[in-house]
Amino acid sequence: MRHAIADAPGAAGARMLRPVGLRVQDLTHRFGDRVVVAAVDLELAPGEVHCLVGPSGCGKTTTLRLIAGLEAVQAGTIEIGGRLVARPGFDLPPEERRVGLMFQDFALFPHLRVADNVGFGLRGLDRVTREQRVRRWLQRVNMTDYARSWPHTLSGGEQQRVALARALAPEPALMLLDEAFSALDTSLRAAVRDEALAVLREAGTPTLLVTHDAEEAVRVGDRIHAMRDGRIIQAGTPAELYARPADPFVAGFFGPVNRFLGRVRGGRVSTPVGEAAAGALPEGLEVETIVRPEAIRVRPVHGGGVRARILQRRDLGPVHVIHLGLPGGSDVRVRQTGAIVGGVGDEVEIELDPSHLFVYPAAR
Ligand code: ATP
Repeated sequence: MRHAIADAPGAAGARMLRPVGLRVQDLTHRFGDRVVVAAVDLELAPGEVHCLVGPSGCGKTTTLRLIAGLEAVQAGTIEIGGRLVARPGFDLPPEERRVGLMFQDFALFPHLRVADNVGFGLRGLDRVTREQRVRRWLQRVNMTDYARSWPHTLSGGEQQRVALARALAPEPALMLLDEAFSALDTSLRAAVRDEALAVLREAGTPTLLVTHDAEEAVRVGDRIHAMRDGRIIQAGTPAELYARPADPFVAGFFGPVNRFLGRVRGGRVSTPVGEAAAGALPEGLEVETIVRPEAIRVRPVHGGGVRARILQRRDLGPVHVIHLGLPGGSDVRVRQTGAIVGGVGDEVEIELDPSHLFVYPAAR
């Protein structure tokens, strides 16, 4: 195998061999009395893209800074490419970790032409090797024709591609991207990001991408680590998070949802769109029920179902987004594919698909 191999001590001294891009174990960090990173574990194989997602202030950047070596480790361990780079009392300096970093403000050096920007981290190499390396990475990001250009003459997307080539030219063992594409406008952002991640995957460089944009994470991450208050509250593939979201925060990652507060009565929860099973939640507990728009199906009135009235209806090709008014005065969002019945103002009945419905203890 071409990649670094980490020795992971197993039971009774047995050693399991597996390629490791990044392994973070039990990483905990305090600023003063405040714990901002709490027992974080991460494991990335070479070529994988993982996303660390969470609201502002949840500890994402601090985690990245610890991995990059910009912050001393207080508790836990960090391995990059199978090599221990940090534990309490031992922190390899950033330049020895072989980590590529890209932040939102990825500024190129304005006084250096594109090729010299890309070659900046290669000053330890001889001239011929350096020039070959610069040429190869400019080619990889389709910027060969701009080698002699000045940064200020490039568009935002072009500058971002040069910044990516600059970060990748020293062939880092790990790439860390912190909201790296947020500065680009929406139309450009997805294209530049997808291109950058394709280059990273092809190079086999494990990549940890920090974002507060859950939609971005579910689009690009092989695995997602949902972070809140310093903790990873759930880690998994986008499909796993979609099927079994650990809490209302993760349930909301995949688009807007309907939320209802209620109480467990006889093992069930009543909502304006129908009843849900409360699972193992105790009797009397205050709960939040999340009903995905795709959980609600609209059908003609037969009698027996919950009645609703169509307030708004948008037909987006094969998908219909409907707002329904309910008898208690609340309204819900419905997302339905295929033919639907009724137009605005019509009365309909609804049925629920329990696989898109989740009940959680209500936040205190
Ligand atoms: P954002 O998405 O807004 O960048 P984040 O999830 O990256 O947020 P961090 O930057 O890791 O969050 O910050 C986590 C918490 O730690 C915040 O409350 C922040 O104010 C605090 N914090 C960060 N750096 C320091 C520091 N050097 N000293 C004290 N507190 C800090």
